[in-house]
Amino acid sequence: MRLYPAEASRRDLLQGVACAAAGAAFAAAAGAAFAKGKRSKADVEYQDTPHGIERCEICAPFLPPDQCRTVVGPVSRQGWCKIYEGA
Ligand code: SF4
Repeated sequence: MRLYPAEASRRDLLQGVACAAAGAAFAAAAGAAFAKGKRSKADVEYQDTPHGIERCEICAPFLPPDQCRTVVGPVSRQGWCKIYEGA
């Protein structure tokens, strides 16, 4: 079967679209895998309020302004969870 230039261009375009979709799916999967390395808020009994003087903003894994290295965010500066690590 012989391909004419217009057909070849259409085929190339469709292949390009398929590659872009595959790339987006890979990026989404990589993001989900990263999040899986963290613990859920429910698992660590996260709360949006401090526990005494203990709170996220003075906890070692806290990443300003609202993320945590070990718990799926966002988290509040005034939040707390049971794996708190005093800095
Ligand atoms: S208290 Fe918990 S959620 Fe907050 S920063 Fe520390 S580990 Fe993360």
